[in-house]
Amino acid sequence: MHPTSTRQTDAIGRGELPPLDRVRDDVWALAQPMPGGHLAYSFTYLLRGADGGIHVIDPGWDSDANWDRLTAALAEIAPGASGTGAPGVDAVTGITGTHLHPDHVGMAARLRAACGAQLAMHALERRALERRSVRRTDPVAALARLEEWGVPEERRGELAQDVDRSPEGLVLAVDEELDDGDLLPVPGFRISVLSTPGHTAGHLCLRDDDRGLLFTGDHVLPTVFPGLGLGGATPSNPLADYLASVERILPYARYEAAPGHGYRFTGLDARATECAEHQLTRAREVAAVLEEEPTVWGTASRLTWTAGWNGLQGFQLLSALSQTEMHRDFVRRHGLP
Ligand SMILES: [Zn+2]
Repeated sequence: MHPTSTRQTDAIGRGELPPLDRVRDDVWALAQPMPGGHLAYSFTYLLRGADGGIHVIDPGWDSDANWDRLTAALAEIAPGASGTGAPGVDAVTGITGTHLHPDHVGMAARLRAACGAQLAMHALERRALERRSVRRTDPVAALARLEEWGVPEERRGELAQDVDRSPEGLVLAVDEELDDGDLLPVPGFRISVLSTPGHTAGHLCLRDDDRGLLFTGDHVLPTVFPGLGLGGATPSNPLADYLASVERILPYARYEAAPGHGYRFTGLDARATECAEHQLTRAREVAAVLEEEPTVWGTASRLTWTAGWNGLQGFQLLSALSQTEMHRDFVRRHGLP
């Protein structure tokens, strides 16, 4: 894996936010800070179509500062920006979300309201967002699930409020659905949708054959291994989905990766394989204790965790249990490759 933007890596080296970065003649990457500390920023990609309209991929985390950053970037790249309203925002003709997380599409509603462009996402993300807008956590079901996982009674309270609820409660209406093979409506571009479930069920990558670019969202990232199954419960196993999705991008190994976080890079095949291998190592660790540990809690307690098993609490602990359950389910349903 090789970083391909010195503008991005130089800034990262100085501990600064990467500046607006020209990826191609008509493609820019804008780093948008996000809270939480795990990752400092996500990337918004701006595509300037042959008609001068701008298509926005993943508008980023919703904050006033990010809104100012986005409008400044739009004003810079939309040459005919009028002085009315937010500069450059009028030029936005479409919005695409790679997946439902708020560090990617949190600002989609604000952008849509300002420019009138439609937000397009995969149908499964749309449905997950719709379910979220009506569902409240059922405390009885939450406690039953924790009991089923073998969580000791005295630890259930701290977890019950978070169980069965997505990590972040973004509520967002999606206007248009995208499916595998669809083309984004950007004049002068042929960007096609590559369905890559795993991180979330309706995650998608975007492939630009003319420019040799693959917008990877959170499917493959240069600096961290993406978590899986983070878009709500699904009938299929997220790890099984993820391994298939890694295979799906290998034909584009020579493309430059434009990821959702980190920096642009080449060597996509090596990095994608590394991400898959990281998950399989975990699955093997789980498989080794599966017979002796009948519960999710017992299995998780036997695994190695960065914070240490005893250091896990609240949401972190819940996340560890969810990932353990996913790996147990994967081993049982699919075996180890
Ligand atoms: Zn994500």
